[in-house]
Amino acid sequence: MTPGVGFTYHCGVIQSNCPVLQKGTTSMPMSDMTQGTTTRSGAAASISAGIPEPESTEKAPVTVVQKKAKSGTSPVSIFLNGEYVDSREKAMVPLFEHGLLYGDGVFEGIRAYNGRIFRMHDHMDRLYHSARAIMLEIPYPKEELGQILLETVRRTGLDEAYIRLIVSRGPGDLGIDPRKCPKPAVYIIASGIALYPKEKYTKGLRCTIASTRRNRPDCLNPQIKTLNYLNNIMAKIEAIQSGVDEAIMLNEAGCVAEGAADNIWVVQGGVLCTPPTHVGILEGITRQVLMEICEANKIAWREKNMVVHDLIKADEIFLCGTGAELIPVVEIDGRVIGTGRPGPVFARMLDLFRERTRTDGVPIR
Ligand code: PMP
Repeated sequence: MTPGVGFTYHCGVIQSNCPVLQKGTTSMPMSDMTQGTTTRSGAAASISAGIPEPESTEKAPVTVVQKKAKSGTSPVSIFLNGEYVDSREKAMVPLFEHGLLYGDGVFEGIRAYNGRIFRMHDHMDRLYHSARAIMLEIPYPKEELGQILLETVRRTGLDEAYIRLIVSRGPGDLGIDPRKCPKPAVYIIASGIALYPKEKYTKGLRCTIASTRRNRPDCLNPQIKTLNYLNNIMAKIEAIQSGVDEAIMLNEAGCVAEGAADNIWVVQGGVLCTPPTHVGILEGITRQVLMEICEANKIAWREKNMVVHDLIKADEIFLCGTGAELIPVVEIDGRVIGTGRPGPVFARMLDLFRERTRTDGVPIR
């Protein structure tokens, strides 16, 4: 623990005054999916908003095999609400789309490894559950949408890919009334993915505790994976403003919830602990896979309600999600976690997870 630095996790403004945090570089990894496809205009927009631009990841060694990559761009295949499109430029959505106007829709971020869609059925189930929660009728039966998803990925020629599956309320008028949107829309983007820079996996992430609390389940349940990610983005902005890599979010009561776009695991005396879903988190599929890995390998784990002090005294902490896989956390608001280096439990879990990704999943071809 760094001497002279008070507990600052309750207030983003105080955090940004903290000299220890200000020393940090702003090597911000992108969130879980779009790193490989960030456009110049996207970068310019973030500068104009006063948010430092992420460090270039062109040199990041962990990138997928890009069979048809031209001049560093990953091939992309898009299903645009009924038709397949092979370029970003041709993929236009209507301005009156309620997904755009209100974030009214649901989505999934999915990975393909080694020619297979990892945990495809779990992602499809979660998508349909999210849609049911917001009373959005997906215009395809699950099986048919699964086939469309597979065809979209097939068209990239990639064996390793990131897939964004979106179902939005579709075009309507300028009011919020979903009844004015007669036809929900389905969009699928399949492309390459770049993970966090490799050094983040070997050195670990520096994090802040966001002052922005995770959405209360009785306001907007985090278990519903909606297109409205502003709650998470506000936390991410706090991390950026504090000069660290990521944000950890608490719920309204001050219990540890999750990362801005990942679930969290805390190692306490050899036991892997993760917050229960009722705390108000997304029920992550990677989180579920890790529970199964623990069961299969007789590794002790439990769901546990935790507060910030549980993080500070942890032996190890890591985040997990489809895009990031497993990534260690070595510092929180200036406090060193464990040895300050990624620990053995993280290393073992990452190995076991990657082993699964090689063989588990629905074949693309
Ligand atoms: N929490 C949030 C808020 C997320 O957006 C995600 C997905 N990136 C996760 C957790 C991890 O979920 P999954 O393992 O299903 O990707």
